[in-house]
Amino acid sequence: MSQADEARIKYTLDESELPTQWYNLLADLATPLPPVLHPATGQPIGPQDLAPLFPMALIAQEVSQERWIPIPEPVRQVLRQWRPTPLFRARRLERALDTPAHIYYKYEGVSPAGSHKPNTAVAQAYYNKQEGVRRLTTETGAGQWGSALAMACRFFDLECKVYMVRVSYEQKPYRRVMMETWGAQVVPSPSPDTEAGRKVRAEDPQSPGSLGIAISEAVEDAATHDDTKYSLGSVLNHVLLHQTVIGLEAKKQLALAGDEADIVIGCAGGGSNFAGLAFPFVADKLRGTRPALRVIAVEPTACPSLTKGKYVYDFGDTVGLTPLIKMYTLGHSFVPAPLHAGGLRYHGMAPLVCKLYDEGVIEAVAVPQLATFEAAVQFARAEGIIPAPETAHAVRVAIDEALRCKAEGTRRTILFNLSGHGHFDLGAYEAFLAGKLQDYAYPEEKVAEALQRLPKVGV
Ligand SMILES: *Cc1c(COP(=O)(O)O)cnc(C)c1O
Repeated sequence: MSQADEARIKYTLDESELPTQWYNLLADLATPLPPVLHPATGQPIGPQDLAPLFPMALIAQEVSQERWIPIPEPVRQVLRQWRPTPLFRARRLERALDTPAHIYYKYEGVSPAGSHKPNTAVAQAYYNKQEGVRRLTTETGAGQWGSALAMACRFFDLECKVYMVRVSYEQKPYRRVMMETWGAQVVPSPSPDTEAGRKVRAEDPQSPGSLGIAISEAVEDAATHDDTKYSLGSVLNHVLLHQTVIGLEAKKQLALAGDEADIVIGCAGGGSNFAGLAFPFVADKLRGTRPALRVIAVEPTACPSLTKGKYVYDFGDTVGLTPLIKMYTLGHSFVPAPLHAGGLRYHGMAPLVCKLYDEGVIEAVAVPQLATFEAAVQFARAEGIIPAPETAHAVRVAIDEALRCKAEGTRRTILFNLSGHGHFDLGAYEAFLAGKLQDYAYPEEKVAEALQRLPKVGV
């Protein structure tokens, strides 16, 4: 290795090395994923149940057993705008920690929307367009998913309507402006445009809205318009599939660096960026070629689905409209404390991630809020990039593992997903820097209460 190589920080791939296929973990599971159930009958749902909401190509991907699924050329053409994304060696962070560990991060913040979410938004917009859909609806909280979909719809000439939780719409205007700049229609939810929205407004004219209400509105809109379908930014198998470009690229880049990952880390809300980085590595573990590889999903102690939830059937949404999914859940009625500024607020987790956790293939860790922001600031001061608060959970555990290497005097290679930048989350950083954020105990009673309200159907 030359001296230049030893100082190398960034491992980039040429555009021509953008993956041509997605990796489908379903093909490598020893036993099948538990079926998704109809809430009324308790029977597995079929493609026809999902057809009003999703195009057939995505419904097929949801259950496909093919190990490799070709990425359509028009999708690759759009992804080329920012992919392959760079892999960085965090040399200044390593020095700051005085660790023998090699720390790498895959930087997804270079997408125009600032996160990994466009990887699936672009694919979803493409398949909808292919099947003659004219318009997509979705919900968004802080606006990361809404902005990714707004951009993707623009590229494929689709209309996009985003139901944005009212409090965020009012308090976080810049993501909304981004979505509008890309041509999406953004309405505060609850809105007067749907039956679900009108009902909530009649009962509570001041309603701040919630992700659950916004989902109900977006789903109703799609179900009641022939030319419209619905789009989801995490949790589902096809979403995780589209994100695997992250891990496929990272593997090639680590090889360029002459390193092999010992520990792979991602933050987990619904599980998509974690899965996107981790699944191509998990494949090696499942095949027995990398048995010692550790793969860690990181969640906030404020919403600890994997580490404190139950592996049971629950609704995917907070209102109780979706089919029943077997996953680690805190109960669909669980709502994390408003004090929690770090995102990753989903009550459940992607079924594929849950199955791996249940079988002990992957690990999960929950980290508290203050330690998470401390890690984010330490990272920003060493590497320059200000991570999204969600991402900061992965940064915390990467730093903790690097410090463990130091204590043990072992050199391990740590890879984590830098899922997005935090340029729209500076309000949370401001609160942290001003000493206004706080830790709080794990909300044991609230979780117990929500777990009481699990649906009765189930295996
Ligand atoms: C949405 C988001 C997440 C959480 O979603 P996952 O599906 O768990 O990846 C994490 N990081 C960033 C930057 C996000 O925008």
